[in-house]
Amino acid sequence: MGLEDLYQQIILDHYRKPRHRGELAAPSVEVDHNNPVCGDQLHLEVRLEDGRIAEVGHTGDGCSISQASASMMSEAAVGLPVDDAMELIEHFRLMMHREAEPDEDRLGDAIALEGVAKYPVRVKCALLSWMALKDALQTHTATTER
Ligand code: ZN
Repeated sequence: MGLEDLYQQIILDHYRKPRHRGELAAPSVEVDHNNPVCGDQLHLEVRLEDGRIAEVGHTGDGCSISQASASMMSEAAVGLPVDDAMELIEHFRLMMHREAEPDEDRLGDAIALEGVAKYPVRVKCALLSWMALKDALQTHTATTER
């Protein structure tokens, strides 16, 4: 099996069995993002505890890339300190714009989305959940710091 096929399998697996799908009992912050080009819609909830991402929950509808990406992002983000999560989001963004060599240790299964960078119209699908997480973390910081 080639690398592209393997990545396709990983994307399909996350699409069919999304991780961290659902709503949280007590989210610290929630955001709604959508990608009108494709019709992807995402509702993201995050619970923060002691400066770390304790829980992530996502709901919504969209194409296989956006759904799989939300699952992969959630898996990669849970447990991270907010600062590390912000760095990881930027790393993922750069990967999708082919401006960074993907770091598999940090990305986990999200490295499988690397191939999507070849299709500019799909890049926004892959980025949707990551930009939603960035927004959620920034919103939370803005509302808790004075
Ligand atoms: Zn899409």
